[in-house]
Amino acid sequence: MNWHLLSLPQIIDQLETSTEGLDATIAQQRLHKEGKNEIADTKKKTIWQMLLHQVTDFMILILIAAAIISGFLGEVIDTIIILVIIVLNAIVGFIQEYRAEKAMEALKGMVANTSRVLRNNKWSDIPASDLVPGDVINLEAGNIIPADVRFFESHQVKVDESSLTGESLNVDKNIEELPEAEYALGDRSNMGYKGTFFTNGRAMAYVVETGMSTELGRIAKMIQTEETATPLQKRLTSFGKRLSVIILILCIVIFGIGLIRGESIIEMLILSISLAVAAIPEALPALVTITLAFGAKKLVKNKALIRKLPAVETLGSVTYICSDKTGTLTINKMEVQEVFEVPMIDNVPFQFKNNILLSAMALNNDVSKDKNGNWIGDSTEVALVKYAYDHDIKRSILEKELPRIAELPFDSTRKCMTTFHQTNNGILVITKGAVDTLFQKLTVAQRTSIDDFESKVNAMAEKGYRVLGYAIKTIPFLPDYLDADEIENELTLVGFAGMIDPPREEAKQAVKECKEAGIIPVMITGDHKLTAKAIAKQLGIVTSEADLAMNGTELNQLTDDDFEKVVEKVRVYARVNPEQKLKIVSALQEKNQFVAMTGDGVNDAPALKNADIGVAMGINGTEVSKEASHMILLDDNFATIVVAVRHGRKIFDNILKFIKYIMTSNSGEIWAILLAPFLGLPIPLMAIHILWINLVTDGLPGLALASEPAEPNIMRRSPRDPKQNIFTLGMSLHILWVGLFMGLVTLGMQAWAIDQDKASWQTMVFTVLCFSQMGNVMSIRSEKESVFKIGLFSNKPLIGALLITFVLQLIIIYVPFFNTVFRTQPLTIIELLITIAVSSLVFWGVELEKFIKRRITKKS
Ligand code: ATP
Repeated sequence: MNWHLLSLPQIIDQLETSTEGLDATIAQQRLHKEGKNEIADTKKKTIWQMLLHQVTDFMILILIAAAIISGFLGEVIDTIIILVIIVLNAIVGFIQEYRAEKAMEALKGMVANTSRVLRNNKWSDIPASDLVPGDVINLEAGNIIPADVRFFESHQVKVDESSLTGESLNVDKNIEELPEAEYALGDRSNMGYKGTFFTNGRAMAYVVETGMSTELGRIAKMIQTEETATPLQKRLTSFGKRLSVIILILCIVIFGIGLIRGESIIEMLILSISLAVAAIPEALPALVTITLAFGAKKLVKNKALIRKLPAVETLGSVTYICSDKTGTLTINKMEVQEVFEVPMIDNVPFQFKNNILLSAMALNNDVSKDKNGNWIGDSTEVALVKYAYDHDIKRSILEKELPRIAELPFDSTRKCMTTFHQTNNGILVITKGAVDTLFQKLTVAQRTSIDDFESKVNAMAEKGYRVLGYAIKTIPFLPDYLDADEIENELTLVGFAGMIDPPREEAKQAVKECKEAGIIPVMITGDHKLTAKAIAKQLGIVTSEADLAMNGTELNQLTDDDFEKVVEKVRVYARVNPEQKLKIVSALQEKNQFVAMTGDGVNDAPALKNADIGVAMGINGTEVSKEASHMILLDDNFATIVVAVRHGRKIFDNILKFIKYIMTSNSGEIWAILLAPFLGLPIPLMAIHILWINLVTDGLPGLALASEPAEPNIMRRSPRDPKQNIFTLGMSLHILWVGLFMGLVTLGMQAWAIDQDKASWQTMVFTVLCFSQMGNVMSIRSEKESVFKIGLFSNKPLIGALLITFVLQLIIIYVPFFNTVFRTQPLTIIELLITIAVSSLVFWGVELEKFIKRRITKKS
């Protein structure tokens, strides 16, 4: 449908709607008929695909084939058991993948946008996915257009359609009907398209298409779905590939040795393939997703909503947190403390005469009162209006004689806002804004007093007050086009007001924590340099002369190279435009810093996108900034970023522990089987034992490591280098030596048991390997601290997992049915105790390793 060519009455006709919006019941019916206003994810895996994915791994297929061949050759029980274990493995893998997917979906659901819609002539906010054709919606700067719409009221509307048309310049939109012709998407000036950014102005519009019928829906298949693999997953996948090759070679060696020793070909084949299946850590990337997704779930409880999963992993690497001041570092509850009125001003409307400053305060704002009498609106404006109101100057009364007829809305680049009021003989223009900006717009006559004004402003700013000025002028008539540069000029300053916005108490604590953790907190604000510096001092961001403060103009004057030289010393940026945030991010990144940057406005989006962690504000942030971010602060609070960093570090630690555990266990199994022939021992384990260990012993306790509490020193060590290899020398050595030790302990048990002529030697070996891993997992919980210090029982899920594994192992040893299945034999109590004692050697070994590490760190 060519919606852009229709007239507004035709649109109303077609959509069977009106300027009062749809009837709620009709909207419900349409939703049922048209479906949700959502873009279907064409790349999403179905449950069947997920299930199939589990068993189509190349190695698993070979194992199934080998097991079936062995079945035909007579080992039917073995075949069945192997198949059962493979099925169990697939189910576990499927559940993991499914849960990861669900957790990701839940996260996506939480960031769903809402829309302001008019139904039954009443405005309300509903999920954007519930919009239907015919709905009337309101759009303002910062919104993402939720569906394809046709504007019917517009005020200085600009839309960024680059996501759809590739055109990077903002396009103007209006309500004009277009003459019959061919129009490219970008030229349809009366239409707004789903997914594009509403960057300026305000508008009302009819929804004309929703969901897959929108232009975005049409091209959805062409849009590449976002890259979801995290850096860690990518590295694990490529590492996994290299490791698979090594493991395959080792398995071929084991197979070869077996043949030389005269073992049965088919048995050796199944054994070596089982070993390969068990030892190749193909599930690691999926497990990392689960850990990250669950970590993200925990973060939501802590008021940090993760939009992009890799952020969970990279949070721990943050070295700089660049934060907005107002509302994030401060409480955003302002109160006017002092005002200064410029004496003797001529040429003002008579209604204004006695209280010029207070009247300007009452008139120039977008504040209103809700039905309970509370002020609603921007907190700066609320403070100013309230001050006037408390001094008996009320907007409702003033506006009767000086009605507002137009406005130039506030924007943080201009740093001011202007309202136009009708008077008996012309138009009164009132501009309010950052004082230093206003000073540049004054009449020649008043410019002589700027020094005087400035010293008064500075005195207020040094106390940490935000100072806003008011200036006025009269013009004969309202111009057709409101050009800010032209209008906000030749103004007469009438006075200014200083207000406090106290720092958040929790932010002070968080700043301290940051510094201990090697993270540098930086304040970025649109406010005055002196105000910003005073607040930064109160928060502990600035503590010495070496901590620099810089304002936007100074920043502009520096070349990129010069800026890079000082960027690491700057702690406060004042009077900066959102565009300059990008320069700050880039300079810090040039210096190899890992930057978290907050932002709330439309213009913050590029900086948020480019920061390593872009942080948007959940309460006061625009949709566009949220869309560009990696993480959203649900409480707009700086302290929450620090909490998120702490969690990020913990989650990453736990992933590393998890990888270390799985790899050590695998290494143990390989060493045991590889070394046995060289020590003149028979093959210690059967294929089903290996598969069992892989399924139960590795899986359950390994996953429980994700619940490990944070290590006590977690926020007292430096941030992790994001480029650092996961397999550090320490980790690789650990995997090799603990694996070797585990293998030798197992073989020692085997040698002894065979020497003692114990028929149950293989059960003992199998159990020792299984229990050794449990000892290993206990000890691996802390990088350096003794388990006795961090508390044996401080990770409850792990204790649960160990108990289950222990009981399952006992069932295999003592229940006759499983004796047949797993070829085990019941152990005597003494034998069981011996296996437990021998298995504990690995635990003590790892504890000894940590003890030595602690000694070395103490000495250095
Ligand atoms: P932050 O510290 O988070 O950057 P900020 O409020 O200081 O927040 P902006 O919102 O960009 O940053 O405001 C920049 C400046 O513009 C403020 O310091 C103030 O002087 C001025 N200002 C803020 N709000 C208004 C407003 N509603 N009308 C006119 N001027 C305003």
